[in-house]
Amino acid sequence: MGRKEVEHRQVIVVGAGPGGSACAQRLAEDGIDVLVIERREIVGNPAQCGECIPNWGEVVGTFSNLDDHQWLKDYFEFPDRLRLHDLDNMRVFLPSGKAYHFDLDAFAGHRLHFDGFLCDKAIHAGAEIRTGEAMMRIQHQSKLDRDLLVTSNGRYSFDFLIDASGSLAHVGRLRHGEDERYRPKDQVPTVYAQVQGKVPETFDVFLGSVAPSGYAWIIPKGPDTANVGLGVRAGYLKGNLKDHLTEFCDSLGFEILSWGGGWIPMGGPVKTMVDGTTLAIGDAAGLVMPSNGGGISQAIISGCFAAEAILDNLREGTTLEAYETRVRASMGRALKNSLRSKNMGYAFFKGDLITETLLRILGPIGGIKRAMECDKPAWLF
Ligand SMILES: Cc1cc2nc3c(=O)[nH]c(=O)nc-3n(C[C@H](O)[C@H](O)[C@H](O)COP(=O)(O)OP(=O)(O)OC[C@H]3O[C@@H](n4cnc5c(N)ncnc54)[C@H](O)[C@@H]3O)c2cc1C
Repeated sequence: MGRKEVEHRQVIVVGAGPGGSACAQRLAEDGIDVLVIERREIVGNPAQCGECIPNWGEVVGTFSNLDDHQWLKDYFEFPDRLRLHDLDNMRVFLPSGKAYHFDLDAFAGHRLHFDGFLCDKAIHAGAEIRTGEAMMRIQHQSKLDRDLLVTSNGRYSFDFLIDASGSLAHVGRLRHGEDERYRPKDQVPTVYAQVQGKVPETFDVFLGSVAPSGYAWIIPKGPDTANVGLGVRAGYLKGNLKDHLTEFCDSLGFEILSWGGGWIPMGGPVKTMVDGTTLAIGDAAGLVMPSNGGGISQAIISGCFAAEAILDNLREGTTLEAYETRVRASMGRALKNSLRSKNMGYAFFKGDLITETLLRILGPIGGIKRAMECDKPAWLF
């Protein structure tokens, strides 16, 4: 196709992360023409994730109105080959080394395998995926009153557009610049390393000066490998994040094999998830848990809800805003509680002494567990 020709697609999804692939699969299964544009050459590579992947039990335990959603329940049935290590326990360490334990229903995997698996399912359902193609611009054609998506390979018109481009919400940014109604706030820089050594069996989280206004984590991926990471409120740790993580790994006797990193939007959901016929999902909609940084399940759920809103719109004329209402009804409470916990952490966890004292008060009454599980914080009534 010549550079000037415009290709029309019913739905274009920008980004083949878990949100984009789930959305594409749900649409394609119902016969919708869907194209996914992914700027990476290989889906899921490089990973930008601690790689703790939730099981369905964790998902329904956290969010509302999902128990009867058979499609999502089936979607969260992941094959054993993706499961490197069961994560059924989490420990949260105070600065003194004292730890609180909680149950978890998750597993560690490789995002390369996981995202590739989800993408394959979308292709199998009939979606088309074009890798190595990046969305560059959105061009408004006033005469035809339509937007064109300009990518590194061509130009597209579309009936519906899904922003599944991750934390930096590229569609929202291209259309609305810094307007916070469309862009996830409080982007927290994170860095992590794949390590080798005597790693724990459990998902461990460390609070205090090791990660001011944030946390360090160890997610075991097998008997002697783990992801070890550090996420800190922007500007709150002097020096280089990588140096701090190296020091942390050295203190635990871990050998660093490789590095990764990325931004986690910790400011809660964007104010506007539906912009005309564009729907933002996953990280692009700010659907990450601010108190624990997890976002895979919300990306999948919102991808499915966005697809179902488009299907309802086409069949019954229902407004696309129903998507946002459903996201908030299902995930709004947990996200709000999680944001409150994070904000309390920002406000009070200043220095090891005060962090230790507060957590020692909150730990026995379930405050840390509630923050991690995104329940209403124990200090709010
Ligand atoms: C360091 C780190 C650790 C994390 N650990 C965990 C964890 O252990 N568990 C958990 O649940 N969550 C974790 N998260 C969050 C989780 O990774 C995200 O919430 C999740 O990946 C969101 O899925 P998504 O589909 O919305 O976006 P993404 O997975 O970010 O996918 C977006 C896709 O869009 C593509 N893209 C971006 N821009 C363009 C463009 N212009 N054109 C075409 N394609 C584009 C990207 O290449 C990418 O493939 C972590 C995040 C980070 C940064």
